[in-house]
Amino acid sequence: MAYTSELKQLIRKVEQTRPLRLAKRGEGWEFPKMSLAEKEERLRRFHPSYKDGSLQELKVGSSKGYRLPPEICAILESWSRIDPDRIDLGKIDYETDILIIGGGGAGTAAALLAQESGADTLIATKLRHGDANTMMAEGGIQAVSQPGKDSPYYHYLDTLGGGHFANIPQLVFTLVTQAPSVIQWLEGLGVMFDKKPDGNLKVFHLGGMSRKRDHVAADITGTEIMRTIRDEARNRDGIRVLEFSPVVELVLNEQGHCAGAILYNLETEEYFLVKAKAVILATGGSGRLHIGGFPTTNHYGATGDGLVLGYRAGVGVCLLHTTQFHPTGAIFPEQAEGLLISEKFRGAGVHLLNTDGEQFVCETEPRDACASSIIRECARMGKGVLTPVGKVGVWLDTPMIDLLHGEGSLIKQFVGKYKLFRRYGIDIAKEPILVYPTLHYQNGGLKFDEEGETCVPGLYAAGEVTGGVHGENRLGGNSLMDVLVFGRIAGKNAALYAREKAQGGRLTLDHVRRFHQELKGAGVDRKKISPILLPDYSNPLVRDRQLTTNYEGTIR
Ligand SMILES: Cc1cc2nc3c(=O)[nH]c(=O)nc-3n(C[C@H](O)[C@H](O)[C@H](O)COP(=O)(O)OP(=O)(O)OC[C@H]3O[C@@H](n4cnc5c(N)ncnc54)[C@H](O)[C@@H]3O)c2cc1C
Repeated sequence: MAYTSELKQLIRKVEQTRPLRLAKRGEGWEFPKMSLAEKEERLRRFHPSYKDGSLQELKVGSSKGYRLPPEICAILESWSRIDPDRIDLGKIDYETDILIIGGGGAGTAAALLAQESGADTLIATKLRHGDANTMMAEGGIQAVSQPGKDSPYYHYLDTLGGGHFANIPQLVFTLVTQAPSVIQWLEGLGVMFDKKPDGNLKVFHLGGMSRKRDHVAADITGTEIMRTIRDEARNRDGIRVLEFSPVVELVLNEQGHCAGAILYNLETEEYFLVKAKAVILATGGSGRLHIGGFPTTNHYGATGDGLVLGYRAGVGVCLLHTTQFHPTGAIFPEQAEGLLISEKFRGAGVHLLNTDGEQFVCETEPRDACASSIIRECARMGKGVLTPVGKVGVWLDTPMIDLLHGEGSLIKQFVGKYKLFRRYGIDIAKEPILVYPTLHYQNGGLKFDEEGETCVPGLYAAGEVTGGVHGENRLGGNSLMDVLVFGRIAGKNAALYAREKAQGGRLTLDHVRRFHQELKGAGVDRKKISPILLPDYSNPLVRDRQLTTNYEGTIR
């Protein structure tokens, strides 16, 4: 749907203030950044994670007492989809050295390194291989890739600052020191990053970065990376892939080490068992839980399953008390609500404007501070722009791109978004986009260390399912790097574990029985079942098939 005449009227105000804003920008002026104290105050008052009632105490498991969003508590405080007493763990359907759960960036990178380390590897994924948040990433990937003013030292400080110093320092150290070699690895595999005429990689600014270190492939960086590593994995011997096969429970052995998983075939509706010497959890995030009722940028399978699987097996969770709301999700047209409008726009100099066409925040503030400022502008200041369906947002002045960087720059740099909005009758090279914060990223997750290990021997984790790398707020471009750095580490170390440390032994689901006892003690409703696998609003026919809400637990 194109802009209505009322909205077009409001766009005039944006056009009126544009020449002066551009002139001031040309003189080097930028909207003042907030002090640390101002930023904290703004978060406390306006960020959805800091609102009264936004957290609830977890009643069961190893992180019992930790206060989390109710939507995450709900999946962690749930019964298994399977009845452990009715499963024959003697009937093994697949056997492998390494089982990787999740076919996104972290899982696929892990598979490549596990295979290179000589391990027989099986990726099991819920939807198709590559149906994942990694595929959708747009804004780019952070690394210090060339000599100059930047160094991993500044990348380290920026990451800690962006995360409110709640990050686990050793994880950040690993991220920033391995990042440069990951860029080389990706280029070696064939990833085509944008380059300057002299052949050097182009680098850009994103929020919270003190130096330019964001690498992009136009606005489809995730697609370019995922396409390349998926092709590589599919073409190598020793990596098998099971699609439409979500894991619903981990299996341990009698020593308490991870030794496989129970999977569910979404097509045949059958459960089956995979036995493995080591397991890697790479199931990504939980945007589809719609924390706080927000729309999301996330793919359909992002339902926090890995948190559930790891938690039941005894791995604690951390840093889940804050959620990342990306400042700029589309709010118009209605069918695009929640869709990511990447930070790369702001990195290229685009202004955020209220209904009077005025700037109200420095566009390069970290995401949480920027999102809180938009919410404040709309709610407290009453300066939001009303959409025809009663939503409210602010303008992202995208026509500035061509004015700042030359005619045709927007189409070249943001081809994906340009084409999408054209379908709605909006030319974003000439008209601004209406935006509002959207649920984007799970800041925390399962506890793990810089070797990719969890506290359960034989169980590794990587990517958005983990917590600690990004503290309480992730910087743009750091997640793509996180999934590749820690995916690679997990793949390599899991292969080593499988070769040198894995012990056989009787398979058990006793951890599920123990968890069920705890749930019973805490009085948790028997109808609450997880992992939920797909969002509650999925097509009822699909929901019936994957038994999200009514399954009592048995093996067919
Ligand atoms: C629209 C969008 C844009 C983004 N842009 C950027 C960016 O520019 N830069 C950046 O650094 N970050 C960006 N991010 C964040 C980043 O893309 C993700 O955090 C990251 O790719 C997550 O990778 P992952 O491998 O951990 O998870 P994913 O890539 O999401 O992969 C997880 C996989 O696990 C599967 N899975 C889930 N549950 C199960 C189960 N029970 N059993 C088996 N498989 C399961 C999923 O289906 C999926 O295939 C963006 C995110 C989104 C949504």
